[in-house]
Amino acid sequence: MKRFHNKNVIVTGGAGGIGDAVCRRFADEGAQVWIVDSHADATAALAENICTTGGSAQWRAVNLSQRDEIAAFVAELTAREARIDVLVNNAGINRRGALLELSDADWQETFTVNLDALFHMCRAVLPQMIAQGGGAIVNTASQWGLHPAPGHIAYNTSKAAVAAFTLSLARDYAPHNVRVNAVCPGEVRTPMLESNLARSGRSLDELNALVPFGRIGEPAEIAATIAFLASDEAPYLCGSLLEITGAQAVA
Ligand code: NAD
Repeated sequence: MKRFHNKNVIVTGGAGGIGDAVCRRFADEGAQVWIVDSHADATAALAENICTTGGSAQWRAVNLSQRDEIAAFVAELTAREARIDVLVNNAGINRRGALLELSDADWQETFTVNLDALFHMCRAVLPQMIAQGGGAIVNTASQWGLHPAPGHIAYNTSKAAVAAFTLSLARDYAPHNVRVNAVCPGEVRTPMLESNLARSGRSLDELNALVPFGRIGEPAEIAATIAFLASDEAPYLCGSLLEITGAQAVA
């Protein structure tokens, strides 16, 4: 089933663990995927790989901390394409630490990437979605934004803000047929999680054992949920914060 045949889909953080799976999922389902990430080499390699396996992908190296770069990317896209069907705000960073361990820069950078980038990206894309009669936005929040984990105050707070941003945007733009939702994953096996594990001294087996389902999540499982939320199969899903956790409570 090609639910996104010929649709333009933007995915931020496409070069990362979840983002890679999201880009491949949309491409498999017929989308033209616009992969946006600051990591140019990995982004280019992913786009090339998608294209050589029969999909359609373009990539742009964009630092989402820079509002001018976001504006330039969306201006280029709207000049080239008649529609922007889906925006997946997935890029994120995780600066660890409790309040007294965090630097000002860690706090600021977390909010710049995890929240401000969504604000600027949505503000750039929404006029086109409204003009074309609708669209879908899916934000990657986190279970930790709803149930904070210890020792991650900046990350938790930024993701709580993403949840509130998602609900606010959904309420304001549902009348324009723009559906806005968020996924709130628990632990997912990606480079972000692996670096967290390395710092905490925990093993993957230990983490898996904490999940009632028996293992942490896989990027493809998050990607499948994001694609569902963005698809025409979820026409009345708007303003939802979908937890994907394998029934795990925050450890
Ligand atoms: P990841 O580190 O593998 O990927 C993040 C991507 O974002 C990277 O490719 C990175 O280059 C990109 N990025 C970061 N800052 C950027 C910037 N300023 N400009 C452009 N690109 C930038 O992480 P992941 O685990 O795939 O996480 C993806 C999303 O899922 C994040 O929002 C994260 O907070 C969220 N999340 C992850 C988990 C998990 O356990 N892995 C759990 C819940 C939520």
